[in-house]
Amino acid sequence: MSGLALQNVVKEFGTFRAVNNVDLTVPHGTFVCMLGPSGCGKTTLLRMIAGLDLPTGGAIRLDGEDITQVPTHKRNLGMVFQSLALFPHLTVGENIAYPLRIRGAAKEDQKKRVDELLAMIHLTGYADRPVAKLSGGQRQRVAIARALSISPKLFLLDEPLSALDAKLREAMQVELRQLQQKLGITTIVVTHDQREAMTMADTVVVMSGGEIRQAASPIEIYRRPADSFVADFIGQTNLLDVAGDSSGRAVVLGQAIPGLELPAGAAKGTLSVRPEDVHLTAPSAGALTGKVTFVRDLGGTIETFVDVAGHQIVAVSTPRERPEVTVGQEVGIALTPDVCVVLKK
Ligand code: ATP
Repeated sequence: MSGLALQNVVKEFGTFRAVNNVDLTVPHGTFVCMLGPSGCGKTTLLRMIAGLDLPTGGAIRLDGEDITQVPTHKRNLGMVFQSLALFPHLTVGENIAYPLRIRGAAKEDQKKRVDELLAMIHLTGYADRPVAKLSGGQRQRVAIARALSISPKLFLLDEPLSALDAKLREAMQVELRQLQQKLGITTIVVTHDQREAMTMADTVVVMSGGEIRQAASPIEIYRRPADSFVADFIGQTNLLDVAGDSSGRAVVLGQAIPGLELPAGAAKGTLSVRPEDVHLTAPSAGALTGKVTFVRDLGGTIETFVDVAGHQIVAVSTPRERPEVTVGQEVGIALTPDVCVVLKK
């Protein structure tokens, strides 16, 4: 297969298993974001793909070739890691050309490639500037261009945008994705920012405790999370216990929800309902009833907090659909099966 394949990859530090039996296939030309809470093993996994750490078990293949033991400099990688800063005493052009220079590329080829890359990162004309005079966002673009100068087979980035402020970061996410699509280069990014992952990735890999919990497209992860960890980690959600009654109906907070079923053979589960799917109704029309405890108006969205039998449920609406409710009011909550995802306990 063309692309990257991780087979049963394990990394142990002494007796601690930081990465546990990871299997992952990254088809050529796709963009993967590895996402998860701090310490879940995403950087360790990326370092093994880069050859900076060796796995204690399993294999890594690139375009069918076993590269598990191949040293980093022979893997044909482009890397943007936080620790690999630009050379401050070199110009923008010299920084970008550096990987080509150490590989002995001819001067004119270096210049041609630098000009191509500068155009790609929207910094045409910046070749002779000292990097010290660039803004944070420009510096990050130069680091990306330097990593791409050798036309690598695989592009690896570890939290590449984390030092940038929120606005610039969002703009750079779109830029990075567009650049990757233009070049068709297989790209793996480690991030702890789910919005970033959702913006850029073809496949989001959600990790926890050294394992992959789910690897799927952003929308599938959001709409069909594999378990309650993924549902809770990606976006906001309401998680409620659900159990089957004697006639097979799903019961949530003491109420049977018409049309909702538990997975075959399961007696219990967790119900996930996204806040934008929670619709408030008159008390008698809802599947559940509760009391409004707080209304948060964020301008673009309005969040209504409802207490149902001691559990908080959040509903999000746009200003246009603003529910006409006040704190203390009794309301109904419509729960239709199409907005409910029942997850394994
Ligand atoms: P973060 O988002 O905080 O960078 P991460 O998901 O990238 O976290 P890793 O850096 O991969 O996590 O670390 C995974 C686990 O392995 C952590 O518990 C970490 O303490 C441990 N670990 C990482 N490197 C080493 C090492 N060289 N020696 C011992 N333990 C390590």
